[in-house]
Amino acid sequence: MNVNESQKVAALLKRHGLQEVSSQEEADLILINTCSVREKPEKKAFSFLGRIKSPGKVVGVMGCVAQQYGGEMLKKDRRIDFVIGTQALHRVPEILSHFLQDHQRIAFTEFVSDKESLSIFREPLATPGVSAYVSVMQGCNRFCTYCIVPFVRGRERSRPSVEILEEIKALTSHGTREIILLGQNVNRYGLDRKNDLTFASLLRKINTHKGVRRLRFVTSHPASLGDEIIHLFGELDTLCESIHLPFQSGSTRILKLMGRGYTREEYLDKIEKLRKIRPEIAISADVIVGFPGETERDFEDTLSLIERVRFDTLFSFRYTPRPMTRAAAFPSQIPEDEKLRRLRTLQTLQSKITYAKNQDQVGKIKDVLVEKPSRYPEGFMMGRAKDNRIVHFKASPTLAGQEVKVRIKQAFQNSLLGEMEEGHVH
Ligand code: SAM
Ligand code: SF4
Repeated sequence: MNVNESQKVAALLKRHGLQEVSSQEEADLILINTCSVREKPEKKAFSFLGRIKSPGKVVGVMGCVAQQYGGEMLKKDRRIDFVIGTQALHRVPEILSHFLQDHQRIAFTEFVSDKESLSIFREPLATPGVSAYVSVMQGCNRFCTYCIVPFVRGRERSRPSVEILEEIKALTSHGTREIILLGQNVNRYGLDRKNDLTFASLLRKINTHKGVRRLRFVTSHPASLGDEIIHLFGELDTLCESIHLPFQSGSTRILKLMGRGYTREEYLDKIEKLRKIRPEIAISADVIVGFPGETERDFEDTLSLIERVRFDTLFSFRYTPRPMTRAAAFPSQIPEDEKLRRLRTLQTLQSKITYAKNQDQVGKIKDVLVEKPSRYPEGFMMGRAKDNRIVHFKASPTLAGQEVKVRIKQAFQNSLLGEMEEGHVH
């Protein structure tokens, strides 16, 4: 989401006459987008700020950390010239030009109207790639007890479907072939809009769009992933065989404390349904270890869920208390070294599963959407299979944007290596 919003702000600034440069040294303006979902990215933002050499440059901070600290950031760090909250990204050029005129440092972190806060997404991307993100909504209403998102991003707001479809039309006319719809709880798209499309009907509509070869969406919340959407995985030919479905914990007791709104069994049930409809579907998820009060038994439930589902990829995090959240005040916070031990145990288990599942791909022929030159030696391109696995293979850069068949020869921890099948370009 932050990548998409940074791209939008960059495009907006370009339209106002600014130019992107390739290094900090060359820049007149340094604009830092920030994330505060966990302690680590927040610390990263502050340490980046601490390292920048800013004499003669204008420095702005935007995003969730900016929203959280507001004017305090200006007091703490004299080098920051302006702070812009999560709902005012469209105002960056205006705030920048005010600052350039009167040199008054400013923090703008007000929540604005839905229409205004969503207006940033109308900005067309300057250089869209073969695969592009399209934000369909902002904010979140769920208030999971560990999560800062609803506080720093506000309530759910969906974009009008007309705008989303227009954006997709513009992207495909510039060569984009894969669309990844974004939202914190993307299955709830449209519920705040009367007389507009539901998420399922939006997916159906995008599926019929001529230029779209592949469609994905992220992030699905298990409590909002209903049968209608699950069935679409068996119906829509552009909908790729991959889903990101965070479970956060394998213990129903902890899920309840987290306020997630589903049980372990209900989660497993959704996975079973998805696999029934689309047996090859790749499943990825997020999980938190060391939530307050998590016992060894709860942790074992998480491990057993991982063994049962055998995720293709798993993003695992150590719980960190976040300001304003309920869980930060819960008793029985878990000591750091114990959280780390659990995280390592979990990651050791998952890396074996990820590697084994990648090994299972060797010998298969996969449909790969060619994206860009890979980090492999010259002459290699990278692309993604429908299950979202990254594949490297020898190919001409002119194939970017095409789907090709690749026979998998070797598997690594995070990617596959293959050879393009002759005569199968389509
Ligand atoms: N909306 C998505 C959902 O509910 O599944 C997740 C969005 S959240 C921005 C990304 C991930 O960060 C979460 O799935 C969770 O695993 C992790 N996360 C959020 N708050 C956290 C915290 N306080 N400590 C550790 N991890 C956290
Ligand atoms: Fe955070 Fe829960 Fe909303 Fe996801 S659903 S953004 S974890 S509050």
